[in-house]
Amino acid sequence: MQIIEHIYVDGSFVVPHGSEMFDLFNPATEQVIGRVRLADEHDANRAVAAAKRALVSFSRTSKSERLDMLQRILKAIQAKEDELTEASMLEFGAPAMSARFHAKGAATMFEQALKVLREYDFKRRVGSSEVVMQPVGVAALITPWNANAIFIAGKLSVALAAGCTAVLKPSEMSATQTRVMTEALHDAGLPAGVVNIVTGRGDVVGETLSAHPDVAKISFTGSTAVGKRILRTGAETLKRTTLELGGKSPFIILDDADLATAAPVAVQAGFTNGGQACNAGSRILIDERRLAEFEKRVIEAVGQFKPGEPRAADTRIGPMVSEKQWQRVQRYIRLGLEEGARLLTGGEGRPAGMSSGWFVKPTVFSDVRNDMTIAREEIFGPVLSIIPYRDVEDAIAIANDTPYGLQAYVMSAQDKRAQDVAARIDAGRVLINGLHYDFDVPFGGFKQSGLGRELGVAGLEAYLEPKAVLGVG
Ligand code: NAD
Repeated sequence: MQIIEHIYVDGSFVVPHGSEMFDLFNPATEQVIGRVRLADEHDANRAVAAAKRALVSFSRTSKSERLDMLQRILKAIQAKEDELTEASMLEFGAPAMSARFHAKGAATMFEQALKVLREYDFKRRVGSSEVVMQPVGVAALITPWNANAIFIAGKLSVALAAGCTAVLKPSEMSATQTRVMTEALHDAGLPAGVVNIVTGRGDVVGETLSAHPDVAKISFTGSTAVGKRILRTGAETLKRTTLELGGKSPFIILDDADLATAAPVAVQAGFTNGGQACNAGSRILIDERRLAEFEKRVIEAVGQFKPGEPRAADTRIGPMVSEKQWQRVQRYIRLGLEEGARLLTGGEGRPAGMSSGWFVKPTVFSDVRNDMTIAREEIFGPVLSIIPYRDVEDAIAIANDTPYGLQAYVMSAQDKRAQDVAARIDAGRVLINGLHYDFDVPFGGFKQSGLGRELGVAGLEAYLEPKAVLGVG
């Protein structure tokens, strides 16, 4: 049993003023594996004060100094890859392969920030004036539990690249991963106060940061409800705000697509991270004339997604992160049945042969209407809805009929057709004919999936304010 008793403020590991102890669980066994001492308002204020002091000199560091620091952090995170993988399996229940992906992803975020920073010009000449991109100030970075190390790295790397100092508030449920990341950051030897990490409750530490007058920027990844609250609280001091929120992403299969190829890709898009992914393709749209054939393919594909113990080599879906999340998924499965969706595979309860752990049956409903609750709300578990459509126009209308707009997927035998449909979808990212990764282009949502963008130049500029200096000559 590990006891995590320190937060990281002003370059040191310190015992927080907060005294609440929070249990950490192994979701595969439901056993308590550790306890974390949570920070409180006092700790959050102390962290902001440290970040504010450090900002004075850090905001004036040169690009090459910051490149050097990011490089050191990258190396330190790479050195922790095995520890991060282990933490993600133990605390989040990620299957071994995904846990490794999460650990490598944290390093990838720093590689990306290095790449953007190397090429970025902070000063531009416009006529006789100069436009300088200046760091916005102290950044509060608030992250969720579903890929903790990646979100910490994604936000922090860019904040530092821009010359901002940071106060991180990671999810209290991911304290083991946070501990490993904090140790890596400490090993990198940054100036005191540049990075501060205060694990605490959202309604305590998160609220304090959202309201704090010395926090200039908030970057938040999490639920839409909390994102709206942060935006409202931050409005009082006009904080620059980036929000990465929920999704209900459509996976559109056009009538000419090869279903033997499309079905496993659609299932993979929906079951990524056990469905605990903001960009999961949770609504699968299929031509009604091909529904029966598609359903057969989907059942075969789901058979490949074995739920099980994270360390087992054949596990593709781990447990849900918490009992609360397990209950939430069960509730949506019941709602699907009550509202008349047809259960194709899966259903309520644990998978056969499992009597403990927050495991759910990989579940797919068919004949789902887009106005049913399971098609409208983010479930955040391996529960997919197949929605039949009449023609392409109907498919596009259904795809866009959602309060969300984070990601979409289109599959077709003809790239041009898929691109034409992609052009008409309101989403921050559209993936054509496959599950592509591209960290060079912006990530973020339309509508209630968020505000602003991360990654690429847009991601860096979210931490910068343009300042025009006139009369430079
Ligand atoms: P959450 O919104 O409950 O919590 C996210 C973070 O916000 C946590 O650190 C939490 O402690 C903190 N928080 C809670 N209340 C707060 C408050 N009042 N003020 C400030 N901070 C507060 O989300 P979660 O359950 O941890 O994560 C799941 C959600 O995250 C899903 O909705 C998912 O779609 C979303 N998500 C979005 C993206 C994206 O990039 N768009 C990526 C991953 C997850």
